[in-house]
Formats: sequence, C-alpha cells, structure tokens
Amino acid sequence: MKQVFVPPFPLKKAFFSHEMQEYLRTTYKREAYRFRQIETAIFHQREIDFAAMTNLPKQMRDDLARECTIIPFHLVKCVEDEEVVKFLFAGDDGQVFETVLMYHRSTHHESKLNRMTLCISSQVWCAVWCTFCVTGTLGLRRNLTMPEILGQVLYVNHYIKMKRGKKENGSWHGIRNVVYMGMGEPLMNYPNVKASVPYLTSEVYLGLSRRRVTISTSWFPHAIKTMADDKLPVSFAFSLHASTQALREELVPFAKRFPLDELMRLCDYYTQTTGQEIFYEYVIIDAVNDSDQCAHDTGKLLKWRRAHLNVIPYNESPAVTYREPSPDRVRRFQMIVKSYGVMVTIRQNRGRKSKGACWQLGREQAKILVWKGGKR
Ligand code: SF4
Repeated sequence: MKQVFVPPFPLKKAFFSHEMQEYLRTTYKREAYRFRQIETAIFHQREIDFAAMTNLPKQMRDDLARECTIIPFHLVKCVEDEEVVKFLFAGDDGQVFETVLMYHRSTHHESKLNRMTLCISSQVWCAVWCTFCVTGTLGLRRNLTMPEILGQVLYVNHYIKMKRGKKENGSWHGIRNVVYMGMGEPLMNYPNVKASVPYLTSEVYLGLSRRRVTISTSWFPHAIKTMADDKLPVSFAFSLHASTQALREELVPFAKRFPLDELMRLCDYYTQTTGQEIFYEYVIIDAVNDSDQCAHDTGKLLKWRRAHLNVIPYNESPAVTYREPSPDRVRRFQMIVKSYGVMVTIRQNRGRKSKGACWQLGREQAKILVWKGGKR
C-alpha cells in the first residue's frame, strides 16, 4: 500500500536559513541593530526562544515567533547517564537524527566536570555502510540543512544552561568541543557543513577555537581537497580503521571507490596546504584489525606523516557481530604503532549505557520509524 506522508509538526521556516535571513533583513532594515541583539541572545545568552528576548519589542518577538524558529526540529527523546546525554531529534519532515553530549570528568575528582563535547550529525543516517556501524546499516535518508546542523549546537547549549547554569566566574556552562562525527558522512554534505562552521568558530558567534571543532571523514576525496583549499578553520579527522586497501574495503565498503594510497595523498595535500596535523581514527575490533601485523602496517603508513592516531575500542552492539578487543590487545597495538614514532592515544569509549557511542546511533530510530509506519 502506498504511504501518504503527513508532516508530524507544523512547518515554520528556520531563522538561520538564507531565505529567512534575507526576508527579515528587508523587513527590519531600519532596525538592523535588532539582529545583533538577537544574535547576542542566541549565541551568548544561549536563548532559543524569541519570547525570552525581552529587549526586543513585543510585536517583533510575536512576529518572529509566528514566522520562524531558531531550532528547526523537535526533541523526540532524551536519554542520559553520567557519561553522555543522547538527544533524538525529528525534523519537520519526521526524519530523525541524533546528537550526543559527552561529559569529560577530572581523572583526580570524578565529580568535577572538565569539559563537554558535542557530537553532531550531518545527515539523516548514512550512505557509507561501514560494517561495524549501526547507522551504516540503515542507508542514507537525506542531508541535514545548515540550520539543522547549527541547531543541534544551539539546542544543547540551551539545555546545558538550563541544567547547569553559570560557572563561578559568571559565564554560562557550555559546549567546548564540537565534532562532526555523528550520523552521516560530513563531507558528503560539505556545503551545509561548511556554512555552519563560522557560527561555531567566529568570535562574533560561539568563538570556539579551530582546535575544538573537528570534521571527520571516512573517504570522500573531492571534498578533502576542497576543504584544504578552503582552509576551513577546523581540525580534520580521517577515519582510517585499516591500513591496507583489502581490509579497509571490508570495513568501509565505499573505500572500493577510492584506493587508500590516493586518499593518503589527499591527506598529505591537506597537511601541506593547511599546515595542520591530521587525527587518524582507528576503531579497533577483536580479531579483525587488532593484530600485530595491522599495528605494524599502521605504524609504517603514518610514520612520516603529521599524524596523531586515536585508537577507539569497538563498542559492541546486538545489531553487529563484531567484538571489542581485550585492553591488553589494545595496549599492545598502541605500543607497536608508537614504536614507529607515531603519537597514539587510546580513546575512552563513552555512552555504553545509553547506546550513545557514535557507531551505535540509529538503532532506536529504526524502531521509531517502524512504530510510525514509516518505511526504510
Ligand atoms: S561510521 Fe560514520 S561514515 Fe561509517 S556508516 Fe557510520 S555514520 Fe556513516
């Protein structure tokens, strides 16, 4: 039977869409300073509701609230434990995506919160089909718009404000790092990802340093070159996962389309053009890519490069048959790669309780779509 799509929520235009910004600037051209007030309220006061911007005239607040919305999606579900908060959002078309807030605590005082990192999505699900990733089993639905990408950061900063209030120095608690490592391949949605970056890094807006905003890719070659040429002010992470073409094709099926040695040449081009080192991400899986040979291959691949390897122990999921390697195995892998002079960090895996680790995203979404009668 053919399914008829009914938008689950009333449609409003996104405040940060190009179309809405043009319309509002024309409408309020004699009160341009009002835009600065709105931006200050959103980015510095962490407001996401026009009604709370009481320095604006009431009529303007009402008009804005009627015409548009700062957050162009709705919260469906929020799951929290002491390590992560996982937000499940739905766009106006009912498509769902996830955002994960990670807490980093002091190693000396467990109760002391050091910083917060937000892992944001760039697409609704993903086309890359990594075999270890639950999201990868779902296929791509659509790209997120720029306001949807930015909205994840604004929504969560507001959430943190409501939950944690101000620090001792009077400033708001907020996100310190943003990583484009949630659902989707960010470089397959490069124009919208790129458009969202200035809102994160510019002093006028959130003012995060480039070291604290990371875009990650697993294969999309053309956009790696474009991103290098654009000198986008972000850190770059390349999802390596295997250091030979054959094993990489097993884990990242899209890798068949572009050989690893050519991807590495593009990574070198990125380093030469921007002067930045690259973070290589390596999800380490028991009896798949954790052998001594794999470690030697990785050491040889990275030893002459400006590289920092992040080894991430696999986070098991009932939806995927892979297993996590033992801590001893992971440490041995690290030791071998380090022997080639490569910087290696073993990353702590977060979100096990709430299934919030990045390659576990998607499982609940599938259930929700089934519940709504949607189809994959
Ligand atoms: S790991 Fe990332 S790129 Fe690979 S399928 Fe999952 S979301 Fe897509």
